[in-house]
Amino acid sequence: MAKRIDVKDLNVYYGDFKAVEGVSLTIEPRSVTAFIGPSGCGKSTFLRTLNRMHEVVPGGRVEGQVMLDDKDLYASSVDPVAVRRTIGMVFQRPNPFPTMSIYDNVVSGLRLSGMKDKKALAEAAEKSLVGANLWTEVKDRLKKPGAGLSGGQQQRLCIARAIAVKPQVLLMDEPCSALDPISTLAIEDLVSELKADYTIVIVTHNMQQASRVSDRTAFFNLAATGKPGRLVEIDTTQKIFSNPKEQATEDYISGRFG
Ligand code: ADP
Repeated sequence: MAKRIDVKDLNVYYGDFKAVEGVSLTIEPRSVTAFIGPSGCGKSTFLRTLNRMHEVVPGGRVEGQVMLDDKDLYASSVDPVAVRRTIGMVFQRPNPFPTMSIYDNVVSGLRLSGMKDKKALAEAAEKSLVGANLWTEVKDRLKKPGAGLSGGQQQRLCIARAIAVKPQVLLMDEPCSALDPISTLAIEDLVSELKADYTIVIVTHNMQQASRVSDRTAFFNLAATGKPGRLVEIDTTQKIFSNPKEQATEDYISGRFG
């Protein structure tokens, strides 16, 4: 199996509190992997270790290894800012830069990395907005504020902004939970399209969503309150939802968890 991300024995802490314990998994290129499991079992925390965002929290630290292709993301020579550019992130609440236009939002990452050529920026903006299925809705108002778009459009704007810098991986932390059902379906369609070019990892509370969009599903769980979250199993989505190996997974997907 080809690997884009390879995690070995990861422990994740907030100060003295171990939030996630002993996670090993691999994520294949050009696929969608869903993280499911009860609230508080560390899905978002673990997701943020994949692009070194976890350590932005005071006291946040990680033990173990995360490889992106052949690169150890936690090696001392690695610049976390560069990692975050290679592995982009889309958050639960759409967070366009409120004072910036639609256009400026999309090209903000490219400008930060030094791109100045107007034509190149305009081309990249169009390509990213087309890629995020937003171009036809905004092409006549690119100079208007991003904050003036609907929630679903703002989320697609954030996806356009994330893909403008050509990341290798896109992490999505419950990207639809603040959206209406129609916008949710638009984002799900987009995720299915984007996997032709990107490796996508999505945290979702919505099991139908996991089964609709993902190729593989990882089920996380807590042994008990106050104990760290663990990966119970990861397999094809089809297998997880039809015939999982572990009883805990079966209980969760059939709604018998407490
Ligand atoms: P999930 O995404 O599965 O709902 P989280 O990753 O948000 O779970 O949380 C995992 C555990 O880490 C929980 O016990 C949560 O309270 C704790 N936690 C999350 N964020 C912080 C933080 N900034 N500081 C301290 N503890 C946190």
